[in-house]
Amino acid sequence: RAKQRNRGEINYFTREMSVEIQERVMLLQALRQAFDNERLFMVYQPQVSLVTRKAIGLEALIRWRDDDGKFIAPDRFIPLAEHSGLIVNIGEWVMRVACHQQARLARAGYGYLRMAINVSVAQFRHPRFPYMLKRAIEDSGCDPACIELEITESMAMVEADFLLQTLDKLKESGITVAVDDFGTGFSSLSYLQRLKVDRLKIDRAFVNEITDSERGAKIPEMVIQLSHKLGLKVIAEGVEDLAQADVLQNLGCHEAQGYYFGRPMEPSALMDWLAAQKD
Ligand code: C2E
Ligand code: MG
Ligand code: MG
Ligand code: MG
Repeated sequence: RAKQRNRGEINYFTREMSVEIQERVMLLQALRQAFDNERLFMVYQPQVSLVTRKAIGLEALIRWRDDDGKFIAPDRFIPLAEHSGLIVNIGEWVMRVACHQQARLARAGYGYLRMAINVSVAQFRHPRFPYMLKRAIEDSGCDPACIELEITESMAMVEADFLLQTLDKLKESGITVAVDDFGTGFSSLSYLQRLKVDRLKIDRAFVNEITDSERGAKIPEMVIQLSHKLGLKVIAEGVEDLAQADVLQNLGCHEAQGYYFGRPMEPSALMDWLAAQKD
C-alpha cells in the first residue's frame, strides 16, 4: 500500500511539474524566436555622482517586447536563458550592442560615461567568454576602460578560483568589475580579498528601507564603510527619491542609480536626457 501511495505522489508531482515545464518550454521557445527576430533590445539607465548629481555612467538592461507589445521582465526570462544556455548567445549580443552604444556616446561627446553590462555565471563559464568580450570591444572601437562588468555575489563566491583567473586576464584590458545586488547573496566576504573588484553595488532592497528608520540605514552604512576600508567604490541602486539620495551621500556613498535620477531609456531618449542635464 505504501508503494502505491508513493507512486501516486510521483504522478501528482509529475503532473504538476509538467504544466510548469510546459510553460517554461513555451516561453523559452518564444525567447529563442524573439532573439532570432530581433525583438530584444537594450535600454540604458543613468548612474550619477552623488556629489554633482550628474551622469557618470549607464547600466545596459535588456528588454523583450512580445508580438502583442507586452513586456516580459528580464527577471522572468534571464533565468530561463541561463538554464538553457541561450544566455551565451544573448549575452554576447548584449555586450556587442552595449559596446557599440558606448562608442556612439563617445562620438557624441560623452566618452567619459561608463557602460555597465550584466554578466551571468553561465556566460562567464563559457571558455570563449573573454574572446567574445574582447571582440565586442574591438569591433565597436569603444574604450575598454569605460566597460564595467556587473557580476553577482553568488557567482563571486561559487566560482572564486575560476573567476580569479578569468577576471585577472580581462582586467588587463582596463575593464572594471562591480558586484551587483551586494548583500543579498548570503556569501562570505572572503572573496573580496581575492577578486579584484572595483565597486560594490548596494541592492535596492536595502536602499528601499534607508529612510524608514535608523535601523534601515544600518546595512547600507556598513556596506559603504566596508567599501571605503577595502578601497572600493560603492554605488546604490534603486534610489527613488531625494531623501534616499541625501542619506546615501551623507553616509559617504559615491554614486547612485534609480528612478529618481533616470529610468532605463532607449538610445534616443537617453541622448535627450543627457543633453538636458548639461544645463
Ligand atoms: P540588476 O542588474 O540588479 O538591475 C537593476 C534592476 O533594477 C533593473 O531591473 C532596473 O530597471 C531596476 N531599477 C532601477 N532603478 C530602480 C528604482 O528606482 N526602483 C525600482 N523598483 N527598480 C529599479 P530590470 O531591468 O527589470 O532587470 C532585472 C534584472 O535582470 C537585472 O537586475 C539583472 O540581474 C537582469 N538583467 C537585465 N538585463 C540583463 C542583461 O543584459 N544580461 C543579464 N545577464 N542579466 C540582465
Ligand atoms: Mg546590474
Ligand atoms: Mg542590482
Ligand atoms: Mg537585481
